[in-house]
Amino acid sequence: MSDTVAIVGRPNVGKSTLFNRLTGRRRAIVEDTPGVTRDRIYGETTWAGRRLSVIDTGGFDPASREPIPALMRAQAEVAVAEADVAILVVDGAAGLTAPDREVYDFLRRSGKPVVVAVNKADRKDVDPSLADFQALGADVLLAISAEHDLGIEALLDAVEARLPPRPPAAAEAPEEGDAAALRLAVIGRPNVGKSSLVNRILGYDRVIVSEVPGTTRDPIDTRFLWNGRPVVLVDTAGIRRRARVEGKLEKVSVVAALKALERCDVAAVVVDAAEGVTDQDQRIGAYAEESGRGVVVVVNKADLLPRGRTARREAEARVRERLRHLAFAPIVFCSAVAGHGVHRVLVAAERVAEAQRRRIPTGQLNRVLAAAVERNEPPFYKNRRLKFYYASQLGVRPPVFAVVTNSPEGVPESYRRYLVNQLREAFDLTGTPVRLVFRPRSRDAGRAAREPSEPAR
Ligand code: GDP
Ligand code: GDP
Repeated sequence: MSDTVAIVGRPNVGKSTLFNRLTGRRRAIVEDTPGVTRDRIYGETTWAGRRLSVIDTGGFDPASREPIPALMRAQAEVAVAEADVAILVVDGAAGLTAPDREVYDFLRRSGKPVVVAVNKADRKDVDPSLADFQALGADVLLAISAEHDLGIEALLDAVEARLPPRPPAAAEAPEEGDAAALRLAVIGRPNVGKSSLVNRILGYDRVIVSEVPGTTRDPIDTRFLWNGRPVVLVDTAGIRRRARVEGKLEKVSVVAALKALERCDVAAVVVDAAEGVTDQDQRIGAYAEESGRGVVVVVNKADLLPRGRTARREAEARVRERLRHLAFAPIVFCSAVAGHGVHRVLVAAERVAEAQRRRIPTGQLNRVLAAAVERNEPPFYKNRRLKFYYASQLGVRPPVFAVVTNSPEGVPESYRRYLVNQLREAFDLTGTPVRLVFRPRSRDAGRAAREPSEPAR
């Protein structure tokens, strides 16, 4: 679990510049899925041997027309809910403003450690004594230039000094049996019923093995046995806490989802049956897909849907339509409040976890590949028909397959998807991403290709 620092501040003070400066290319989120806007809000860096997650709280609503105090309040709430330390960025050239002061006071009252970074210190019109900003009464006030890379190390040192003490190594070690445990995260926007679902899952006759203890900032995972198998429910306390207290901020839910995704095998992406799939659900779904974790889509509050199979089928089609990037995931309907279908979430998650770990015997894999290629002839590339000679599995969690072909660069996306779907069906790889790596034919691969049904070594 990495420590988390949140960057807070008025528009235009240089938050994104600082975020980029801190995280460089190691940003977790860069690409866009068509139809889903993704803001770069979450990245990673390392300082003094500690992994630091960095949240740009200003990246949530770049085009927002909300008044600045409301925006900053929302940012500060994210920082309080999800970060260990807040960096308040102020504009050295603009001087101290009322919103700067308000957000500083809010953070201080919440008890969150704050480091104040006076940015744009490279400019001639910035008073190097920072006299203007002394009025805040901050215990750390640093002049920086995010753009020109000045004072960044001192800033990181100041942040590091305010992180909670490192837990003893033993606390970080996985508990016995954790390797075999299914690590399940329940994610989704506020009010879809995550907390109710978690309570249901834990409320039955579960044998709770342990609540891994931690300080207030630590995620608390709950281990229990389900059908005799160990399950770890990731960040149980966080889910309950967020549902109860924190104003149900949508932004917090995205950050929480990103953090939980880091730590799970399978994510239950919860949506609300009555409200349908919203833009925010799509965004969280896109992050889940990108993470490479297994996914189960949970349509909660199914008690609010009209009864009958047709209504159910229609609802499912609507969810599928709006969550196209999660087409590989099974959909489970449930009602956390009524207690219906909750066990099916666990059944589906368990199946997905098994699929992630599945090793396919090479002979079977190649029979399925050959049949798929025969059924749907590959296209031409540069006047030659694509040929697929041989496949082998490179790894699990998620399953990765190498496919030897006459032109790796010529395999169109549509054909790649076709092959993935054929493998998915043949080997029941529902819910897990499946990666294909196309490779050119080497002499070894050529030899193997002549013996396609050679059994796995
Ligand atoms: P945000 O709205 O707080 O995320 O601010 P941005 O990172 O988008 O920066 C706002 C403007 O300030 C941009 O034009 C940046 O180029 C500029 N800026 C950011 N950091 C610095 C700095 O250290 N020095 C100077 N002179 N300009 C900066
Ligand atoms: P969270 O913010 O995602 O953790 O959502 P909560 O678990 O706090 O639930 C939000 C609201 O939805 C609460 O009022 C719940 O009682 C309600 N709710 C949760 N699950 C269901 C359900 O299955 N059916 C119905 N009708 N309401 C539900």
